[in-house]
Amino acid sequence: MKSYKAYLSIGSNLGGRAKNLEDAIALLKRAEGVSVERVSRIYETRPWGNLDQPPFLNIAAVVTASVEPIALLDACQSVENRLGRVRHEHWGARTMDIDILMADGYEMETERLKIPHPYMTERAFVLVPLVEIAPDLRVNGKNVAEWLKLLDKEETAGVEEYH
Ligand code: AMP
Repeated sequence: MKSYKAYLSIGSNLGGRAKNLEDAIALLKRAEGVSVERVSRIYETRPWGNLDQPPFLNIAAVVTASVEPIALLDACQSVENRLGRVRHEHWGARTMDIDILMADGYEMETERLKIPHPYMTERAFVLVPLVEIAPDLRVNGKNVAEWLKLLDKEETAGVEEYH
């Protein structure tokens, strides 16, 4: 099949968060039919709402995929499982969460896979890392940089570069 670019959002808020992100990238690099092209810097998303929820570290990545999007999702979920994803329903805390944001040339809405990701244009923790590596990527009629500008200051203030 023809290869295409796909955009991922990767987050962790349990355990060694930065190491979890690093491990996720290393595992994605070894996945069949997936080639990691670019990875953003790391951003920390301060908790809001339920303060028991630890802050997330988030990154975005661009990959070239030569497998169908559903097989790319399988690869992402196998990385989540390898990194011992733990979920607590009430907090949404997890060691590893990988979402497919966009896949060039694909649009779909099945239970297992929605592309573009339904909430990506509303979330600063997705758009702030993504704008760094794909500002001109078009999603639902606007590019990533434009979507980011439309967010409330309050939403973007919760996302800071992590050192
Ligand atoms: P969450 O716990 O919020 O990460 O949701 C995971 C579930 O969302 C999985 O069962 C996936 O099959 C489903 N899903 C639907 N669309 C997507 C997408 N674009 N990327 C990742 N997971 C997705």
